[in-house]
Amino acid sequence: MHFTDLGLSPEVLNAVADVGYTTPTPIQAQAIPHVLMGRDVLGCAQTGTGKTASFTLPMIDIQASGRAKARMPRSLIITPTRELATQISENFDLYGKNSKLSMALLIGGSSFVEQNKRLDRGVDVLIATPGRLLDLYERGKILLADVKILVIDEADRMLDMGFIPDVERIVGLLPKIRQTLFFSATMPREVRRLADAFLMNPKEISVDPPSSAAETVTQILVKVHGDQKQKRAALRALLEQEKVNSALIFCNRKKDVDVLYKSLRQHDYSVAALHGDMAQPVRTATLESFKAGEVTLLVCSDVAARGLDLPAVSHVFNFDVPVHAEDYVHRIGRTGRAGRSGRAFTLALPAESKALAAVTRLLGREIAQAEKGQADVAEPTEPATAPAPEAEKPRRRSRRGGSGRKTAAKVAPVETPLEAPDVPEVIPTAAVANAPATATPVAAAPTKTRATRAPRKTAAASPPSPSFGEHTPAFMLRPVRVA
Ligand code: AMP
Repeated sequence: MHFTDLGLSPEVLNAVADVGYTTPTPIQAQAIPHVLMGRDVLGCAQTGTGKTASFTLPMIDIQASGRAKARMPRSLIITPTRELATQISENFDLYGKNSKLSMALLIGGSSFVEQNKRLDRGVDVLIATPGRLLDLYERGKILLADVKILVIDEADRMLDMGFIPDVERIVGLLPKIRQTLFFSATMPREVRRLADAFLMNPKEISVDPPSSAAETVTQILVKVHGDQKQKRAALRALLEQEKVNSALIFCNRKKDVDVLYKSLRQHDYSVAALHGDMAQPVRTATLESFKAGEVTLLVCSDVAARGLDLPAVSHVFNFDVPVHAEDYVHRIGRTGRAGRSGRAFTLALPAESKALAAVTRLLGREIAQAEKGQADVAEPTEPATAPAPEAEKPRRRSRRGGSGRKTAAKVAPVETPLEAPDVPEVIPTAAVANAPATATPVAAAPTKTRATRAPRKTAAASPPSPSFGEHTPAFMLRPVRVA
C-alpha cells in the first residue's frame, strides 16, 4: 500500500513526501479512504501508530474548498491535553503546508487576545482542549454551528481526566449533520457509550488491540520488598545499570512525584518534572529541553505525559504500578517508538500486587522478572532519615533564577485565572541535574499550587451561556458590511 493509493490530493501527497513518509501506517491505510468518503470513523489506536495523520491528512483535502466565516470554525478537534493539541497543530503545519487552511489552537495557559484575533479572522480547523473551548463559547466568542467535521482524540484519556461531561456538552452544541472521527487507545464501556452516541454507522478500525504493547518494548518487572525508599534505591540501581539516554518515570500520585523528583535531584540526576498547572510556556520549555536531551529523566504523571510523541525515549520506569491497568500500555508506549527498541521497567511493592495482577490480566501474560542482581534492592542505599541536606553533596548544577529549589508551594502562580483547568492533576516543578557521571545545569520551572489555581468551574459558578434569545453575543450585533 502506498500513500498514492489512498485518494489524497497531490498537494497533501507532496507534503507527506517532504516529511519523509514512504508508506502509510495501518491506521492511515484503513482510515484515510473512509474519512475522504465522508464516513464516521471509530479508531482504536494508540499514539505512535500514526493516527494523527490518519485524520489530519484527509481533513486537509476535505476542507480544501470553502472558506471559514469569522468565529465559525469548519472543523473541530478536541484533545485532552495542551501538549497533544500542540502536537496536532504541528501536524497540520507540516501536512498542510501546500494548502491555504487556517488553524487556531485554543488551549489554556495561552493568550486569549491572540486566540480571539485568529477566531475573528475565521479558522478552518480549531484544535482545542475542552475547558478553554467552553470558556470561549460561554463568552460568546465562538459559534459552533458551522462545524462539519468533529475529531475526538484520546477519548479514554478524556474519561480519565473527568472531561466527558464537557465533551458531551460541546458535542451537543454542534450540528447533528457532521462527520465524526473518534479515537481512543482503549475502549472501556463508558467510551463505547460515547462512541455510540456521537457516531453514525462508523467504520470501526482497530490497529492495536488495547491490551497489546509495542513489540519493540522489552518489559521487565522488578519486585521490591520494603517501601518507597527501597523503590527509590531500586530505581537508582536501574539507572546505574541501564544505558539511559532519555527516560520517563511515571508515578501515580503528585506526592510521590514530588518525593522522587527531589530524591533524584539530591542524587545529582538530570531530572525534570512536568505538570499540568505550569504556565504553558514553562510546560513547553520543559518538554523541549527533555526532547532536546538537555534533561535525561522526566518524572511525570499519566496526565502530564500521555499522548506525547517523544521519539527518542530509551526507557520508561513505572515507579508505581498504574492504578488503571490500561495506563500501563500507554506508559510503556512512550518508548520503543518509531521502530526503535525501548525498555520498560515496572517497580512493584507487595502492596501493589492487586494493581499488578490487573496489568498482567490485561496483557494476557506475566511481565518477565528482572534477573538476579538487576536493581538489587535488598539493601536500601538511601539514609533512613530525610534526604541529606544539599551541602553534604557537591552540587554540579545551577538553578534558574538562583533561588534554589523551587517547589510548587514556594512559587507564585503565573497562569491567568481565566484559564479552564485542562489537567486536573498537580505535579511538582521541573529541575535538572545529570546522570551520575556527567552533571549538567539545573533549570527550575515556576509553578503554582492547587490552592492558588483558578477554581474548577461548577455549573453554578459558570457564567450563563449566551443564547440568541436573551443574550445575543456582541459580535452578532455589529453592523454588517455589504460588498
Ligand atoms: P502519532 O501516532 O500520530 O502520534 O504518530 C507517531 C509518529 O509517527 C509521529 O512521529 C509521526 O511523525 C510518525 N508517522 C506518522 N505517520 C507515519 C508514516 N506513514 N511513516 C512514518 N512515520 C509516521
